[in-house]
Amino acid sequence: MTANVLTVGFVGLGAMGGPMVERLISAGHRLLVHDVSPAALAQAEALGATALPSPAAVADAAPIVFVSLPTPDVVKQVALGAGGLVEGSAMRIYADLSTTGARVASEVAEGLSAKGVAVLDAPVSGGVAGAKAGTLSVMASGDRAAFEQVRDLLETIGRGTIHVGEEVGQGQTLKLVNNLIAATVWAATAEAMVMGAKAGLDPAVMHAVIARSSGRSFSTEVFMPKAVLERSFDFGFRLELMRKDVRLALAEAEALGTTMLTCTTAKQLYDHAYVHGGEGQDVTALIRLLESWGGAEVSSQRRN
Ligand code: NAD
Repeated sequence: MTANVLTVGFVGLGAMGGPMVERLISAGHRLLVHDVSPAALAQAEALGATALPSPAAVADAAPIVFVSLPTPDVVKQVALGAGGLVEGSAMRIYADLSTTGARVASEVAEGLSAKGVAVLDAPVSGGVAGAKAGTLSVMASGDRAAFEQVRDLLETIGRGTIHVGEEVGQGQTLKLVNNLIAATVWAATAEAMVMGAKAGLDPAVMHAVIARSSGRSFSTEVFMPKAVLERSFDFGFRLELMRKDVRLALAEAEALGTTMLTCTTAKQLYDHAYVHGGEGQDVTALIRLLESWGGAEVSSQRRN
C-alpha cells in the first residue's frame, strides 16, 4: 500500500487504460472510472474500482483525472462535450495519457483551464506489456507544479517519467515523433523480412541474426517473435491507432513545413492495410498485406 492514498479518476479502460487502472489500484489508490464499454467497466469494478456513469460524474468526485482514449475527437468529447469532464466540480488536474496530438491538447487546455483545472499531457510508449508491467515510457508536459503532484502516479504506470516541457502538447508532439519512427521502421522491417522469406531464408534464422545486427529495433525485438513468426498477431496495439498517429504526425509536419518523404510512403502502406484488413486488426498484421503482395510468409513454421 502506498503512504499517500489518492482518489484518481480514470476515463478509458481499454488495452492501455485497463492495466494502468489495475496498477494504480494495486498501489493502494481509490479509482473512480468511466468507459462506454460495460465489459471494460465490469472488469475495472472487479479489481476494486468504482464505476461512474459519465466523465462529468468522475470529475465531480476526483481531484485528479487521467484519460486513455482512442482518438482526438473522443478526447475532446470526453473533456469538453456534454456530460464531459468540464462539467465536474472537483477536478483540479487533468492528464491525457492517450496519443492525440498537440492541437487537441491545447484545445482541451483552453477549455479546462477556464474552469481552473491544470492540464497536462502525458502520452506513453511501451505497449500493453509495458502497461501491465508498469515500465511504460511517460513523456509529460504542462505546468511543472501540477506535474509534480501527479509524478508518483505516473511513476506507478511507467518507469523513468520525463517532464519534456512546460507547454501543453510538447509531450504529445514527442510521442508523435516516436510513433512516426516506430511506424516507419515497422513498415520497412515488414517489407525486408518478406523479401528475405521469398528468397528462401528461414524467417526464424533471419530474426536470430538481425537480433544481433544493425537492423534490430522494437519491431524485430518485440513485434517479430510471437506476433509475426508464431502468427499470433496480438501485440495489443490496433493498426488503426498507429495509422491515426502517423496521420497526426504528418499533419503536424505539413503545418511545420518539414520534409517527410519516407514517412509519407509508410502512411500509404498503413492506409492500404487498414482498407484491406479493416477495423480491429493488430498493428503487426501490416505484414500480412506485404506477404500477400509478395507471395511469401514470415513464419517460423516455414510454410513457404
Ligand atoms: P483501446 O481502444 O483499447 O481503449 C480505448 C478505451 O476507450 C476503450 O475501452 C473504449 O471503450 C473507451 N472509449 C471510447 N470512447 C469513449 C468515450 N466516449 N467515453 C469513455 N470511454 C470511451 O485503445 P488503447 O490501445 O488502450 O489506446 C488508448 C490510447 O493510448 C490511444 O490514444 C493509443 O494511441 C494510445 N497508446 C496505445 C498503445 C498500445 O500499445 N495499445 C501504446 C501507447 C499509446
